[in-house]
Amino acid sequence: MIQVIGYAANQAKAQLTPYSFERREPKEHDILIDIQYCGICHTDIHQVNNEWGGSTYPMVPGHEIVGIVSKVGSKVTKYKIGDKVGVGCFVDSCRTCTPCKNGLEQYCTNGMVTTYNGVEKDGTATQGGYSSKITVDENYVLKIPDNMSLDRTAPLLCAGITLYSPLMHWKAGPGKKIAIIGLGGLGHMGVKIAHALGAEVSVLSHSLRKLPDGKKMGADHFYATSDPETFVKLQGYFDLIVSTVSTDFDLNQFLNLLTLDGTMVQVGLPEKETTMNFASLIGNRRSLSGSLIGGIKETQEMLNFCSQNNIASDIEIISIQEIGEAYKRILNSDVRYRFVIDIKSLQ
Ligand code: NAP
Ligand code: ZN
Ligand code: ZN
Repeated sequence: MIQVIGYAANQAKAQLTPYSFERREPKEHDILIDIQYCGICHTDIHQVNNEWGGSTYPMVPGHEIVGIVSKVGSKVTKYKIGDKVGVGCFVDSCRTCTPCKNGLEQYCTNGMVTTYNGVEKDGTATQGGYSSKITVDENYVLKIPDNMSLDRTAPLLCAGITLYSPLMHWKAGPGKKIAIIGLGGLGHMGVKIAHALGAEVSVLSHSLRKLPDGKKMGADHFYATSDPETFVKLQGYFDLIVSTVSTDFDLNQFLNLLTLDGTMVQVGLPEKETTMNFASLIGNRRSLSGSLIGGIKETQEMLNFCSQNNIASDIEIISIQEIGEAYKRILNSDVRYRFVIDIKSLQ
């Protein structure tokens, strides 16, 4: 076994503290990755706090992992020692169901094996990227293009793909009016990707505080949701709205901003259930949908797209010891725009 150091929560809502554990030696198709950086997703906070139920402890969060291959199993063909690689939100799936066969492993009928707070097929609890090393099957690893910096690429492994996938599925592009609700980790990647796809992009944010940043990221328009006038003047305007909001909010207000046949896609997952008025859907034949990260094939496509379009995350690098403060700032919508842990700080 391989000795690993990390930071873990030992119970719900606990502060993260140093934690030593073991990873498996690479099997035939596994690679060992020396982790360099790990992004902090709002999901890490939901999971540590057991807001969605089913959290298990000790929990080492982190599913925006980038690093360097340091060991390969005897039958590995895709990677070699020294390669720059990434790992996102899952590390395995059944590989036989229809979604798995179609590259949609995130919707695996038998349940994907999540990178942390999950269980490997051999029964081992999975532990995430706030740690020094990880062993992963090569089929669940992403190649990081040479021109991309590791630290600014880490958030693409969850935030990037979570926005790329619905933007592609609902065909964001020239002539389409897209709104992104919430300019946080997910939202800022959505603005950059939708802009690169050629769509008209609007940000719907609490206030106008983040307006200059949003414009630099490629937003054409920026509106404050605290201003009631926003909901009057934008009524029936958007073809697609992607909501990254992580707390409960008034869904109907936003549905009313969709044009004929427009779609609102929810990717943020608040703790509480929300209510809606069907009249918001019936008028303008609107649709409400959801979307979960993206499969391995699409995640690689997203990384290649970002590499070609010079897209990276806007980050603040922190040491692992600053994790508590970073979580507080995320909860206050004060992240600019993703915290990334420098894993060297674990030593
Ligand atoms: P984040 O960085 O905290 O960003 C969320 C943004 O939502 C905030 O920056 C804020 O933007 C806005 N917001 C927060 N509270 C709000 C409120 N009360 N009212 C209105 N807007 C509010 O979080 P994230 O990492 O982007 O994650 C967002 C959500 O997506 C989380 O629930 C996370 O678990 C979920 N998620 C889902 C998937 C998926 O596959 N579906 C993947 C990853 C994460 P403004 O300041 O601009 O208003
Ligand atoms: Zn995430
Ligand atoms: Zn499957």
